[in-house]
Amino acid sequence: MIRIAILGSTGSIGRSTLEVVTRHPERFEVVSLAAHRNVELLSEQVQRFRPKRAVLADETCRVADTGGATWRSGMQALIDLASDPEVDVVVNALVGAVGLAPTIACLEAGHRLALANKESLVAGGALVLDAAARGRGSIVPIDSEHSAILQCLAGQPTTAVQRLILTASGGPFRGRNHEEFWHVGPDEALKHPTWDMGVKITIDSATLANKALEVIEAHFLYGLEYNRIQAVVHPQSIVHSFVEFVDGSVLAQLGFPTMELPILYALSYPERIGDATLRTFDPVQASPLTFEEIDQGAFPLYGLGTAAGAAGGAAAAAFNAGNEIAVQAFIQGAIRFPEMADVVSAAIDGTGSGDLSNIHDVIAVDGTARVIATEAASRLGEARMRTNS
Ligand code: MG
Repeated sequence: MIRIAILGSTGSIGRSTLEVVTRHPERFEVVSLAAHRNVELLSEQVQRFRPKRAVLADETCRVADTGGATWRSGMQALIDLASDPEVDVVVNALVGAVGLAPTIACLEAGHRLALANKESLVAGGALVLDAAARGRGSIVPIDSEHSAILQCLAGQPTTAVQRLILTASGGPFRGRNHEEFWHVGPDEALKHPTWDMGVKITIDSATLANKALEVIEAHFLYGLEYNRIQAVVHPQSIVHSFVEFVDGSVLAQLGFPTMELPILYALSYPERIGDATLRTFDPVQASPLTFEEIDQGAFPLYGLGTAAGAAGGAAAAAFNAGNEIAVQAFIQGAIRFPEMADVVSAAIDGTGSGDLSNIHDVIAVDGTARVIATEAASRLGEARMRTNS
C-alpha cells in the first residue's frame, strides 16, 4: 500500500490524482489532503477519502473539523504534511512558489515527491536538489513532458543523452496575428485546445511561459545544460517529449493527452499499473503529427524565461515571481496579454542575477520581484486609463 499526501487536492491535478487513487484502492491510500482555501470541496474530499489530516494553506480560513480528520491551517501545517513519516509519496500540486518549502521538507524527509508544482524547481532548483541529496528523497515529475523524458531515459545516465526536446501545444493563440494579442481577454486565453488544466498553467500555456518554466524544470530534473534542452510546437499534444541519445537515436513517449497517465506513473514508479479506463492509443486517430518552431517574436516570455534560467538562480526566481504577478494582473483585467512580458521583464531587470544559497534568499528575491512586477503592472494599467480618458 502506497500512502499518499496530496497538496493542492482541490485543483485540477489534485482532483485527477484522487480519480486515479479511487480506481486503485488496493494500491493507494490517501493519508492527508491540503488545499489553498476551498474549504467546501476539501470537506467533501475528506468525507469521501477519510484522510487522517486536512490542511488549508491560507491561515485566514476557518478549518472545517469534519470527516474525522485533524484539521490545521497555514504554511507550517503544509510543511508538516510534506514531511510526515507516515507518508510514502507527496503529490505537490500547489500553484506557484508557495510550493517550495513543502517540496524541500518532503525531500529532506526522504519521501518521493510527485511534482506538479514546477514553480518550486524554477524558484529554488539548486536548493531542491540539495534537499534531495541531504534527505535521500527523490523527485518523479507529474508534468507530462518530464514524465515522458523519465520514461524514455529508462534508467540511462544523463551522459548517454545528447539533447532533450520538449513539446509544446502552442496554446490557443498559435499562428494568430500578433496584433490581435492586444485584444484577447482572459476568457479566450483560458480556452486551451488540447489540455484541460487550472487557470495559472492555462494562461502560462497561452503565453508559452509554461514552456520556459518546463525547460528550467528539465534542467534541474535531468542535469543537462540549457543549450541541450529545446522545445518545439506540436499542436496535437500526442508526443509528450523526445530524448536524443549520444548515438543519435531518438526516443519519444506518446499518448492521447490526459494528466491521469503521468499521475499514475508518478505514483507507481518504477512499476507500471494497468488502468483500463485510460483511452486506448490509436495512431490513425492521432494523426497527423506535426511540429513547428516556437514563434519567439509572438511569445517573448519563452525566450525571457529560458534566458533567466541560464542566467542563474535569482533571475529564474524573479522570472517565476514576475510571471505569477503578470498572470494575476491579466486575469483581473489590469493589463493586456502582450504586457505580461513587460511586467516579467521589469521583475527580472530589477532583481539582478546570481545564485541563491538558502530559502531566505529565494523568499527575498521572490518578494522583491513581486513588488517590482506589481508596480510595473499598475503603471501599465494607469497609462491605459489616461489614454482612454
Ligand atoms: Mg507540461
